Amino acid sequence: MGQLSNDERCAQRRIVATVRSCGVLNSDGLAMWREADCGEWKATAAEIGRDLDLLGVPHTIVTAYRFPLANSWNKKMRRGEEVRIAGKDLPHLVRWMPSLKKSIDSIPEDCPGWGFMFFQPKAEGMALMGFALSADWPVWSQKQARAARLLCAECAYDLRKGDDEDRLPYNIPAPDKPNRLRLVCGRCCNQGLDQIKALAGAAGQPL
Ligand SMILES: [Zn+2]
Repeated sequence: MGQLSNDERCAQRRIVATVRSCGVLNSDGLAMWREADCGEWKATAAEIGRDLDLLGVPHTIVTAYRFPLANSWNKKMRRGEEVRIAGKDLPHLVRWMPSLKKSIDSIPEDCPGWGFMFFQPKAEGMALMGFALSADWPVWSQKQARAARLLCAECAYDLRKGDDEDRLPYNIPAPDKPNRLRLVCGRCCNQGLDQIKALAGAAGQPL
């Protein structure tokens, strides 16, 4: 690797510490989440991004939400920014952090990725949507998943499982809160078909 500059050495030290403390590896790559306005004692997503730029590691910064804290009064999802390094770019990081290689090699093949997808019934048909969650959503506890509304609103089935085609997630908002996400498993909402019919009817389209 040749002689490192002082800047590179400092950036390397910070990145290794950040990856160790909050890095999440999955089949899509590595992610590090930061709550928005998290205070000055932690590096922000932008600061992590600058260090990665200096080290020549390609990455993106996306908005991502994490479950609300148990004591939060409004039970709102916590907005944050997530620094993501795609799997194909991880060798650029391994160069600075060789110990990561072993963890990358041991990611199980059926490991979920960054996206949590759900179906959105619309008057004109079914759309597939993504829920912008932080990369660690598959390992949230049941309680945290419930607070993030990832359990079926009708039967409490854990919609993260995604292994039962009959129980994939659909967004069926309550009539009085049409813009609030309310996920329901396919079995509890007739695979979203009733909702499509209702919406198409409301839009005055022939059924
Ligand atoms: Zn259900």
